[in-house]
This record gives sequence, structure tokens and C-alpha cells, in this order.
Amino acid sequence: MPRRDPLGPSETPRGRADPEFPVGWAELEREIAECRRCPLHRSRTHVVTYRGSPRPAVLFVGEAPGAVEDRLGVPFAGRSGKRLDRAIDEIGLGPSEYGILNLIKCRPPGNRFPIPSERACRPFLDRQIALLGPRGIVTLGARALAALDPGAPAVLTAAGTLRSVGGRPLFPLLHPAAPLHAPRWRERWARDLEALRRALPKMLRPRRGPAPRRARSDHRAVPARNGVASPGAL
Ligand code: SF4
Repeated sequence: MPRRDPLGPSETPRGRADPEFPVGWAELEREIAECRRCPLHRSRTHVVTYRGSPRPAVLFVGEAPGAVEDRLGVPFAGRSGKRLDRAIDEIGLGPSEYGILNLIKCRPPGNRFPIPSERACRPFLDRQIALLGPRGIVTLGARALAALDPGAPAVLTAAGTLRSVGGRPLFPLLHPAAPLHAPRWRERWARDLEALRRALPKMLRPRRGPAPRRARSDHRAVPARNGVASPGAL
């Protein structure tokens, strides 16, 4: 029986006032919500920041919100998200062990992926990763892989193989939309997922370094710039 993710698409996104989230997280979410750094702020309904555990061991990083995500303000809330949730359940990760976010936080109209927006939004991603401090990262699709592991080969070569970036395990997968739209990718998706399941013990080994500080209350959280690593911390 699949576990239901209590932070899943039907729930309100958490983090804004959750004391379990790291110091600086609430401030970062406020900054993203008010961001106008690129033209995507004009067409968005909601910013789409994060869903999942305040202490994710594994962070799944996608590309950009789609229409459903824009409407709900929750990452991977549509069909691809359901496929992803099923995959996460299949590899044995529980709700407290993972989180999901995207490279950019506002929906590109028509789902076109604007490179300048990726650059403008990147500091938010780096700060999210630095604050959450996952042990391992799973990239979903070509753009997420290229952004977080620029030295990686093309996604069709890299997917399904454990890599390391800055000492942190990184496991590329195809985007979960791939097996939905093209049946020929279903077998590949299943194979890569099984490889990820086998790689998880290695990915989840504790890393050296201090654990992220946790906020005791939203109001007492210190500004994000006091508690985060610089862009490119990966
Ligand atoms: S996509 Fe990122 S940089 Fe652009 S407006 Fe949204 S939050 Fe700001």
C-alpha cells in the first residue's frame, strides 16, 4: 500500500512558519514570493518553492512549474508529480526523507524554459539547497542535470548512474514526464529508478560538516543571508 505524502499536492505548502525548517528558510520563502528579478513574475499565479520534509535526506530537483503547479503553488503537483511520488514510494523513501523543488520558481508561459530566468533564479536554488542540506540530490531531466552538474554528459548517458558534485552524491534521472509522454521511455525510467534504489544507501551516508540550524519560530528566524552558503555551493 503506497504511503501517502502528507506534504503532497493536496496540502498547503509548508515552510513559511514551520519551526522544523532551518533558520533562514522563512525569510528565503518571503524573498522568493516577492521576487521580480525576471519577467516571469508578471505571468505567475503563485511562486512555486518547495514541498517535502524540513530535513530531506534526498532532494529532487526539477526544472520549472507547469500550469497545475502555478495554480496551486506546489511543485510537481500534476501528472508528472504523481508519477514522481509513485517512484519515490517505490524506492522506499518516506515523507520525512525527501523534498521536491525546481530550478526556477515561476511558471514559464507555454512551458518555454527561459535561460535568463534560470540565471536570475539560481541564487534561490543554491540557498534552498544550502539551508536544507540534503545528503544527496536527484536531478529530474536535462536542465536540472546541466544546472547542478555542468560537467555531466547528456542526460540520456548520465541518467541511472551515481555521480558526485562537490562531495555530494548526485543521481540523474529523466524527467518524470518522459515515461508519460513517450512509452519508449517507460522501461528506461524503471531501470534508472531501480539503479537509484540500489544507490540510495551510498547516497544517504552522513556527510561531514555541520547540520543546518533549525528555526525555533518563524519570527525568530535570522535573515537568510546570515545563514547560507554562496551560490554554487554544490
Ligand atoms: S522565476 Fe525566479 S527570478 Fe524569476 S521572478 Fe520568479 S522567483 Fe524571481
